[in-house]
Amino acid sequence: MRTIPLSKPFFNGLEKKEVLKVLLSGKLVQGQQVARLENQFKKVTGAKFSIATNNGTSALHTALHSIGTKPGDEVITTPFTFIASANSILMVGAKPVFVDIEPDSLNIDPNLIENAITPKTKAIIVVNLFGQPANFHQINQIAKKHKLLVVEDSAQSIGAHYQGRRSGNLADVSCFSLYATKNVTSAEGGIITTNSESFFKKCVMFRQHGQLQNQTYDYLGLGYNYRMTDIQAAIGNVQMSKLAKITKLRQKIARLYNEGLSDINWIKTPVVVDESHVYHQYTIQVQPVGGINRDSLSTFLKKHGVQTKVFYPKPLFEFPHLSYRKPSQTEFPIARKIAKKVLSLPIYPSLKEVDVRYIVDKIHRYGR
Ligand SMILES: *Cc1c(COP(=O)(O)O)cnc(C)c1O
Repeated sequence: MRTIPLSKPFFNGLEKKEVLKVLLSGKLVQGQQVARLENQFKKVTGAKFSIATNNGTSALHTALHSIGTKPGDEVITTPFTFIASANSILMVGAKPVFVDIEPDSLNIDPNLIENAITPKTKAIIVVNLFGQPANFHQINQIAKKHKLLVVEDSAQSIGAHYQGRRSGNLADVSCFSLYATKNVTSAEGGIITTNSESFFKKCVMFRQHGQLQNQTYDYLGLGYNYRMTDIQAAIGNVQMSKLAKITKLRQKIARLYNEGLSDINWIKTPVVVDESHVYHQYTIQVQPVGGINRDSLSTFLKKHGVQTKVFYPKPLFEFPHLSYRKPSQTEFPIARKIAKKVLSLPIYPSLKEVDVRYIVDKIHRYGR
């Protein structure tokens, strides 16, 4: 029997070689490799400034601080995302306000945002879920009208584009994650990109104890230690040189799944609403009919060596620390419904075509 994991890093010998070089150089933190990685992100996103951090969560925390989010502020975001998107709001003492999602893109529904705006609203965190950009056209218009700032949670969307612009350059500040399972990894890591010099400077200080840039031991306010190591950056730099290939291979696997699953009427394959999807996850929706349901499909595939996972089993308002007010069962109908149907299938650049066919075949067998 085959064993097919959900994800797998895309390494060749180069990552190892570059990491060893860093170890031998003696310069382990915020050296040339980190500077190079920051430059690579500027190039890829087209943003003017870039700051490396130790992970994507600290990038979000830093970004929210840099735009001036304070205790008492409200920040609008989606309830259907990884928990870090919303936890970062609590980290600056603000309050998360959730807005339901669209049934196709699974991203925040821009038509519902204005209803959630109050005099306390400071910003919107927009997540490009599974690698597909949200409707930034409409969201940025709303933000402009109400003088709100927009933070792009681009943790899952490196390499994606939207109306001629790159993910990482769609909002006031953007945050990437380079976690082990992300499309591009440095094991752990984060990158902030922005076109604002003032946000950039605040990020640089916040990353290192509130220290003024280039002026050691002079502190302008509270900061943290969110620095990235050159060991991480060395891995990230090699990965970034493969970004185009990584994206192409993921999109090819998604196409194979789309074709293979198109005749199954109880499966909804991912809908590309706009022009771009980089498939951080390939996530199907399983419509329960007869004996068919998401959880038993997952168990069946596991028995055949195929790892799957539910991203995400619970909308975030169900977690008490994120929910200042328990929403009624009729609120957030889409997020509630989608959380019960989604199942993410294996996708990674080295996943073989025969393995995709094997998975598709097993799903057909399950349905019979
Ligand atoms: C991975 C991820 C994060 C957090 O990144 P870490 O590097 O794991 O801290 C934030 N938001 C989303 C949507 C993510 O997928």
